[in-house]
Order: sequence, then structure tokens, then C-alpha cells
Amino acid sequence: MTQASGSGMFIRVEVDEPVASDAAAAKQLAGVCPVDIFEASESGVTIVDKNLDECILCGLCLAVGPAGAVRVAKLYDAGALLVAAV
Ligand code: SF4
Repeated sequence: MTQASGSGMFIRVEVDEPVASDAAAAKQLAGVCPVDIFEASESGVTIVDKNLDECILCGLCLAVGPAGAVRVAKLYDAGALLVAAV
């Protein structure tokens, strides 16, 4: 299974297949993230490592794709996963 992922000092982001290689989902991720952590291309999404620690924990990316396909881990909090607001 392929996965797009990257780690900053404080934040780790993972995107599972099939979302990671889906051009439409990649565009959605790039569109919702206010700090440009996701870069979209025809082959899917790339995580922009240098922007990871800019994550504001807004949770907007968690709504893209099936539940749990996009994960934001707070490395400064023992890797606790960000939970989507309800
Ligand atoms: S939680 Fe918000 S800022 Fe962080 S990666 Fe997702 S969309 Fe971007």
C-alpha cells in the first residue's frame, strides 16, 4: 500500500490510498489546507514537509476521502491524532 506522508518537528501527516493517488482528492486537500501542506498533481498528493509545522489543526483535511484516510498526528503530544470537529 502506498501512502503519502511527511513529518515536521511537531506534526506528521499521512494520507492513505486510494486518496493519496487520486488527483481529485489531491486538489481538494490542496484547496482546504490554509497553510499549503498538500500539493496536488495528476499523480496525486504530495506532502510539503517544510510547511508541516505550520499546521493550525483546523481539521479541514480530515473530511477529504473516507473517514480515517487522512491523519494528522501531534508529535508534541505523543503522536495523538487530531480528531475532526463534529
Ligand atoms: S489540520 Fe488544517 S492546517 Fe493542518 S494539515 Fe489539515 S487542513 Fe492543513
